[in-house]
This record gives sequence, C-alpha cells and structure tokens, in this order.
Amino acid sequence: MEWQRNIKTLTTDELKAWLRDVDEKPYRADQIQKWLFCQQVRSYDEMVNISPALREKMAKQFTLCGLKEDQRSVSVDGTVKWLFETEDGHHIETVMIPANGRYSVCVSTQVGCAMNCAFCRTAKMGFTRNLEAGEILEEIINVNWYLKDNGFMNEEGGVAQVTNIIFMGMGEPLNNLENVHRVCCTLHNQKLFNMGAKRMTVSTSGVVPKIKELVDRNTPCCLAVSLNSTNNEYRSSVMPVNKTWPIEKLLEAVDEYIRRTDNYVTFEFVLIQNITCTPKAAKELIRICAPRRVKVNAIVLNDGDDPTLHAPTPEEVEDFLAAVRAAEIQITIRNPRGRDILAACGQLAYKKEGKEC
Ligand code: SF4
Repeated sequence: MEWQRNIKTLTTDELKAWLRDVDEKPYRADQIQKWLFCQQVRSYDEMVNISPALREKMAKQFTLCGLKEDQRSVSVDGTVKWLFETEDGHHIETVMIPANGRYSVCVSTQVGCAMNCAFCRTAKMGFTRNLEAGEILEEIINVNWYLKDNGFMNEEGGVAQVTNIIFMGMGEPLNNLENVHRVCCTLHNQKLFNMGAKRMTVSTSGVVPKIKELVDRNTPCCLAVSLNSTNNEYRSSVMPVNKTWPIEKLLEAVDEYIRRTDNYVTFEFVLIQNITCTPKAAKELIRICAPRRVKVNAIVLNDGDDPTLHAPTPEEVEDFLAAVRAAEIQITIRNPRGRDILAACGQLAYKKEGKEC
C-alpha cells in the first residue's frame, strides 16, 4: 500500500530543500518544525503563521498524523499502553511509565521484530517493516497529548511532558538505525524537544556492527544491551543473534563504545529461575562486569507463553542481587510495571479482540 511520507521524518535540511523545490522560502522550515515539535499541532490549519497555500502543499505531500490511536489501556499502577494503527494498517504498541514526576516512554521502532528472542511476545509477530522517524516521534507526541489532555503536571506545576525515552518496545532499534538516529537528533535539538542525550536509551539485543555505527554517527543517546546470559550456549538458545555475534564479540563492541563515548553501558539481564538467576550466573556476571564501566538492570521474567521458563522467587532474586552488589557492581532491579495490561518487558505484541499475532 502506498502512503505519504511523514513530515516529522524530515530533517531541517531536508525540509529546507523541499521548500526550495516548491518555490517557498527555506527559513519556513524552522517555523514549521516549531509547530510540529514545540506546539505539537494536530493539523496543518493550526500553523497560523504559514500561508494557506504552503499548508496545502504540505498536506498534499506529507502526512501530519500517521498514527491513529486504536486502543489505550491504563494499568492499576498508572502505566499506560497504546495500540496505534499505522497508515498502512499495521499495529504497534507504546508504553508510558510514570514515576516520581518522570514520564518515561518505551517506543516501538519496527512493526514486529526479526530477532526471534524466545522470551518475547513481539518475536511471535515476525517482522513487517521499519517505522519511519516521524512515526516514532508521533508515539512520543501522542503521549504528550495524553498528559496534557488529562491534566498531568510536572514537578514545577506546569503541563507534564515526556521526560525519558527508551527504545525498547517492539523491534530491534539498531536494525532501524537511520530512523532511530533521526529521532534522537530531533529530540536532542535545543530548538525542538531539547532533550538531553542521557534521557534517551537505545537498547539492542546485540547487533554488533550497528553498535559501532551508533558511535560513528555520534547519535545522542545512551546504550543498553540485552545481555540476559553470560553463557554462549544458553544465550544462543534464547537469543539467536548470539549465534552471529557471540558474547566475546558483543563485549568487544561494548568496550569500543565505552572507550570512544566515555559513557556507561547498561546491561539488561532477565532473571529466569534456575537459568540466569543462580549463584553460578551471578559469578559469571561479575566476571564480565567487574572490568567494565557498566551498570546492570535486572528484570524478573514475566511469565509468558513458554511453559519451561519461570520467574525466580523473591528470595532467589535477593540472593542474586546481594552476590552481585558484594562485588561492587551497580545493579538495580526494575520493578515490573503494567503487567495487568501486558505492557511489561517482552509482553508487547499486537493483541486485539482475543487474537494475537
Ligand atoms: S526482545 Fe527485542 S530484539 Fe528480541 S524479539 Fe523481542 S523486540 Fe525483538
């Protein structure tokens, strides 16, 4: 199906070039992007300092609102999950997690995912296509509309806005790096969202060459890696990406990233009973983390569709954390949020009217 390019995908330079092509003044690009990203308008008609003729040209060429809210679920813990329909009829999910005046949004970067991780519901959808940068930005803008329309306040008593972005929804972000890079640059742009690089985290299952490309591009973001296991045999069995780029190669890329960016890397580590949440696994994790500037973000498995994988008991989790902390490794446990609405890690998959892809 043919669909128009999303105007939010364009960089300022691309928008200027288009304006020149249609005999308009390039400086209008700044005005248009302020409407798109500062005012976050919902129609071209709201751009009152743009001539009706230019508004019409834009409307003929570009989509302004490419995502349609299809469903919205609110968890008992305040987490909100959106099901959006794209212009070409696909579905993606976005999750907003409110905590202590911060509003973090977990965005999808692809329709489905090709990485086939065993513990992930998105994997079962297969891969359909990459999201455009404009579509990913619209996930964030839709959350801002929700915060505004529902009277959410920030800590200063003003209208709340999304404060943190995690590229960890549906899809492998580094397999859509061109669009993820554009999104990070737009969010980081002082004239537009003015969001600090430390507030954006791109998470990867371990696509090694793309980690290097992320550094080469100087993408303003932090990096998280879904490590999940320190054992190649097991990691390969649950994360097929490990067959192509085993842990040694992944750690080389992580080391290069740390050296060249001077940033920390966060290892995401899913705790699975008798597999990754054992004294031996804790020891292995310490061996990998001790020589590196890394933090560990542990997540207790969400009991999913695989009957062979189980969440550890709270005591097993505590023992694991205590062992890692004793080695002075920074480890935090992420509280599962939005479990009741299937919004927690690994639970995102298009599900509507009882059907699941
Ligand atoms: S965990 Fe992430 S990379 Fe793996 S299949 Fe799911 S969405 Fe893709």
